[in-house]
Amino acid sequence: MRLSRYFMPTLREAPSDAQIVSHQLMLRAGMIRQEAAGIYAWLPLGLKVLKKIEQVVREEMNRAGAVEILMPTLQLADLWRESGRYDDYGEEMLRIKDRHDRDLLYGPTAEEVVTDIFRSYIKSYKDLPKNLYNIQWKFRDERRPRFGVMRGREFLMKDAYSFDVDEAAARRSYNRMFLAYLNVYARLGLKAIPVKADPGPIGGDLSHEFMILADTGESQVFAHRDLVEMGAPGPDIDWDGDLEAEVTRRTSLYAASDEMHDVARFDAMPADKQMTARGIEVGHIFYFGTKYSGPMKANVTGPDGKDTPVQMGSYGVGVSRLVAAIIEASHDAGGIIWPDSVAPFGAAVLNLRVGDAACDAACETAYAALVAAGKDPLYDDRDERPGAKFAATDLVGIPWQLVIGPKGLADGVVELKRRATGERQTLPLEAALKAITG
Ligand code: ATP
Ligand code: MG
Repeated sequence: MRLSRYFMPTLREAPSDAQIVSHQLMLRAGMIRQEAAGIYAWLPLGLKVLKKIEQVVREEMNRAGAVEILMPTLQLADLWRESGRYDDYGEEMLRIKDRHDRDLLYGPTAEEVVTDIFRSYIKSYKDLPKNLYNIQWKFRDERRPRFGVMRGREFLMKDAYSFDVDEAAARRSYNRMFLAYLNVYARLGLKAIPVKADPGPIGGDLSHEFMILADTGESQVFAHRDLVEMGAPGPDIDWDGDLEAEVTRRTSLYAASDEMHDVARFDAMPADKQMTARGIEVGHIFYFGTKYSGPMKANVTGPDGKDTPVQMGSYGVGVSRLVAAIIEASHDAGGIIWPDSVAPFGAAVLNLRVGDAACDAACETAYAALVAAGKDPLYDDRDERPGAKFAATDLVGIPWQLVIGPKGLADGVVELKRRATGERQTLPLEAALKAITG
């Protein structure tokens, strides 16, 4: 992409109402624009990152055996009356009437819709287990939308739903999702801590939240009591194997990490000195048995020929919240530092003197080579001061910066900067391209 033709409305300063660094940087980098309280338009750079996170989540769901569907944003109130949640859900639910005076709502979650789909088709234990997920916009009329997309009213969520014949099978499905979540966060460059959670209004008896530790987090994490000692697993999980054993194996790995030492120190403190940490909730998983399948009569015939309500769990990831959470976890004074896995562009080419024949030619060569290598480069071909180009590239956090100017070219070299470390190398263009494309 040539920056002269792109739409990346960066700002020198963040609007004064942006209180946390991720909100400030998302506005300054031109990633989002607020349209109403808690409702955002995603501008090109923000949309690219959102789509990359969505794709990582999708790949890990598929790998764990879940199957993608797409449910509507608008749902019938009657389904929620069946489950008994229509009146309970309260003011967070956006209620709508259509022209026939039928009650609709903008889905805050989709247990009812997915249970309705399931019961229409699946009647026998022989068709189980099943796990259906979608990545869809949700609406919750939050009392205090704030911190940008961190707590929006409209937000993108991945929600998966498991269906099993009995409790033992349902717990296996739960463990699969637990491990798949650790894979998702590891690929996004995040250290997410699974914390035992109160299942709350969704109900049920087993639940974990996944927390990124950050000073700006809204949730309190009681590290010494609630931390479950499980580390991020690699991609080599045997999804049909004994996941309990897998979980235990990861437990010992995690115990060797810094976090656990911190927790040990925390535990050694006198009780009245213990400080809780703050965390950003980036995922939440539940096992709730027959809470929806019971009242909605989603029954399956078991091996004994008897009909019983199917056992369910639900599994949410805050996809749009993750954009902000990654920035909270990875930035410096200059701006965002994207992990390679979700960076909006793989590399930037900075032309320090647009109009200089040698500079233009070298930049075009570099740009074409990076496009061909699949690096999706951003070429800063604007007629701007070098300082403005450096600042913009740092701000938007592109992992590699290839700086091409007339002085260097006269000596046969360019400069290559790694955003994450700030490390700079001066080297011939060919060698720089090799370093980026690997
Ligand atoms: P919270 O306690 O932050 O309100 P929740 O427990 O209500 O979250 P869930 O219903 O479990 O959230 O939704 C699954 C995930 O969706 C959450 O873990 C979070 O990452 C994300 N999420 C929930 N509410 C919002 C919101 N208002 N804006 C952005 N993401 C959200
Ligand atoms: Mg909530």
